[in-house]
Amino acid sequence: AVSIRGLSKRFDTAHVLHDIDLDVAAGHVVVLVGPSGSGKTTLLRSINLLERPTTGRLTVGGTTLSFAPAGPAITRTEAAAIREVRLKTAMVFQAFNLFPHMTALANVAEGLISVKQMAKPAAHVQAMSLLQRMSLVDKANAFPATLSGGQKQRVAIARALAMRPQIMLFDEPTSALDPELRSEVLSVLRDIAAGGMTMLVVTHEMAFAREIADQVVFMEAGRIRFAGPPDAFFRSDDPRIVRFLSAIL
Ligand code: ATP
Repeated sequence: AVSIRGLSKRFDTAHVLHDIDLDVAAGHVVVLVGPSGSGKTTLLRSINLLERPTTGRLTVGGTTLSFAPAGPAITRTEAAAIREVRLKTAMVFQAFNLFPHMTALANVAEGLISVKQMAKPAAHVQAMSLLQRMSLVDKANAFPATLSGGQKQRVAIARALAMRPQIMLFDEPTSALDPELRSEVLSVLRDIAAGGMTMLVVTHEMAFAREIADQVVFMEAGRIRFAGPPDAFFRSDDPRIVRFLSAIL
């Protein structure tokens, strides 16, 4: 579903991602872990092209884009490919990023109306069923400011699911939550994974990574230092991984 070859990203002088190769098979869950600043968020943002990679090739759900440093300005074909990739992916952020002036229901329905051109009543019916899946029907008319962090994140997840993405990208979806609210969001993620969604998840929740990941990817200083099944990751004798795990567990 996702294939990345030789992907690099520079911001001016900062070389943040180096020659990343990564494959995510359809229906698999890849968990990205690693120290702060290692490039996890930048990699996720490169996959849905919130960041434009400097070099490399990216295939998302059958749409391929190639990047070169001194490449031409964005062509019409590239712009179309970027739109396709954005329609195939949905991202959930650490800070929820809900529209504050809209109810939970309107937040979930918004993309259906503005992107999918759905009529408002139909969009609201669909949004309601997603809120139901998130156990949030009683909060449909609540504004974000009145919701708990866990509820806000579940609204954000419903909004992402509404777009029927092929691939979901989660950037530390539980980091902004109190520990007791994390489990409600983690159980929603488990449920989505069990439904066969292709997922990339940046997280510091190691127990969750062990449980849910088909593949753990450990990043350090903009490179992939390890990629493999969770068992092998947690048994690794790579001193850098041992140090990371002993600091975090
Ligand atoms: P964390 O776990 O702390 O969120 P991360 O592994 O997700 O970290 P990134 O946020 O991807 O790391 O950042 C990787 C590096 O890229 C950092 O050194 C960061 O300062 C740098 N960086 C990120 N965005 C930009 C930007 N827009 N301009 C310049 N440097 C950036």
